[in-house]
Amino acid sequence: MAAIYRPLASNVPVSSGFGPRGGQQHNGIDFACPVGTPIYAVADGVVVEGAEREQGSVSGFGSWIWIDCQSSARVDAVYGHVRHPGIRVRRGDRVVAGQLIGESGNEGQTTGPHLHFEVWGPPGRRGGRALDPAPWLLGALDPTEQEPEPGEGLTAESLSEAMGGSLSLARYRELLPGMANAMREAKIDTVLRAAHWHAQLGHESVGLRHMSEIWGPTPSQRGYEGRADLGNNRPGDGYRFRGSGPIQLTGRANFTRFSRWCFDQGYTKKANEIVDDPDRVRDDPKFGFLAASWYWTVARPQLNSLADADDLNGVTRAINGGLNGINDRRARLARCRRLGTRLLPGEEDELTPEERRLLREVHTQLLGPNSRGWPQLGQNPQGQNLTVVDAIAALRNDVNALNARIDELEKLEKQQRKA
Ligand SMILES: [Zn+2]
Repeated sequence: MAAIYRPLASNVPVSSGFGPRGGQQHNGIDFACPVGTPIYAVADGVVVEGAEREQGSVSGFGSWIWIDCQSSARVDAVYGHVRHPGIRVRRGDRVVAGQLIGESGNEGQTTGPHLHFEVWGPPGRRGGRALDPAPWLLGALDPTEQEPEPGEGLTAESLSEAMGGSLSLARYRELLPGMANAMREAKIDTVLRAAHWHAQLGHESVGLRHMSEIWGPTPSQRGYEGRADLGNNRPGDGYRFRGSGPIQLTGRANFTRFSRWCFDQGYTKKANEIVDDPDRVRDDPKFGFLAASWYWTVARPQLNSLADADDLNGVTRAINGGLNGINDRRARLARCRRLGTRLLPGEEDELTPEERRLLREVHTQLLGPNSRGWPQLGQNPQGQNLTVVDAIAALRNDVNALNARIDELEKLEKQQRKA
């Protein structure tokens, strides 16, 4: 069976259970949470009612989200008293388990802010029976901690499936570490973000086949040369900074910003390393994919929230400027969604950017800038700057020499006193 998620983060407490309450039947459970708490689809399904229904028009609940999850989980899920302006889904939308669908509120008849949550057995809220959500939610996943089961995350096989098998499995295996690292860097940590990420990168690069723009040059490619908006201000920049990486980083200005970012994240030793050697974005998948992370989080920082809202057109416009190839992007998105957590990178054994920065700092403190010692610590007989360890060794030698000299002087003094 497909995964089941809790309607809220697992630290939100239940304030009222299912069953008879004050002479009436309470058809769900209540979660105590402030207005605006994110709520999530508990299972894959299709929205029956959402944002399109007028605010305050649902009897008792004020506003609600109602999702038909019969085909995936044999229930309809109902979220009551939700904050209407926060509803992110509408009638007919497909949602995936764990997807952010809106936020809790205090609408309708309530005694305070909370989420009322119901599940209805077959055939659904119309004609079915309300079930106690508490046992139904036992073992459900926390939607704020979406992680693949051990051994079930992104593999060469699932990457190949997501990309439509455009390349050999061996090639996808080669690309996998760079892809997984770039996804962590871009905070692609939910199923929906991963689906949008893979759909867009897959479309832009034709299944990761093209890590470098195919160069005619076409008339429009000739136009790259000298284009001010791309920052191409030196002869040859048009070709030198042609589209690179799976999301086609283009132009001297973007390469310069990306180069600086790589340095800040601890991926390179110098801020201009990438802009001086743009082939690395085309030839080294690690940097090719990182260019996509940079684009996704820095150049277009709205992309993750557009993905959270499952806004395919919005995501496409942010990447493409228009809606070119929207049908292929939609087909890819549908395929990627079906792969679920199999598209999320698993546990990382690499260092986080912060850990990398710290390590580099310790390294610099010990060995000096570019491992060349510190000028202020003095030099060895070969004229090289001393490292911290060399300098301490030199200090010890000096102290020993000083002690020896003091001993010598004391001895002299004694002899003189005797004399
Ligand atoms: Zn309730």
